[in-house]
Amino acid sequence: MGINIINANNKMKQISKDLLVERGVSIEAIAQIVYDLQIKYIPKITIEDCKDAIERVLDKREVQNAILTGIELDKLAEENKLSQPLETLINSDHPLYGIDEILVLSIVNVYGSIGFTNFGYVDKLKPGIIGKLDEEGKQPNKCNTFLDDIIGAIAAAAASSIAHNFEDDKE
Ligand code: MG
Repeated sequence: MGINIINANNKMKQISKDLLVERGVSIEAIAQIVYDLQIKYIPKITIEDCKDAIERVLDKREVQNAILTGIELDKLAEENKLSQPLETLINSDHPLYGIDEILVLSIVNVYGSIGFTNFGYVDKLKPGIIGKLDEEGKQPNKCNTFLDDIIGAIAAAAASSIAHNFEDDKE
């Protein structure tokens, strides 16, 4: 059963999307971040354009793998199922951990290096749902250490995809 799912990209995508919803993240909430990132460069952009770009990002295998891995670690940390000291590092979102940011580089880079600039920007400002997840993760029995970076990375990659597409349109 596991192998059949792994070989079916559409199933992997659906599982990834279901996991995001389970953790309280809608495509609409990510689309709003993408929109805010791109509206100053592309005034005619719509929320629908942003949702389409997020769907393209979620088609990518490396994105699905990062979502599955990061959210699993958040959930295991919440349930105190990790070994020490990793349990404390992840559950407390320890500033010297940093593997959450490293894991999502596989998402950030799917549309080239401009994703990196966008990711740095959202990681610092924590707009919309990212800020909410960050706050929620500070509650006891709640861990969003990987999730906030996953969402920031998806938004950054989607913004890059839109930037590339609109550049292509101009030519
Ligand atoms: Mg984090």
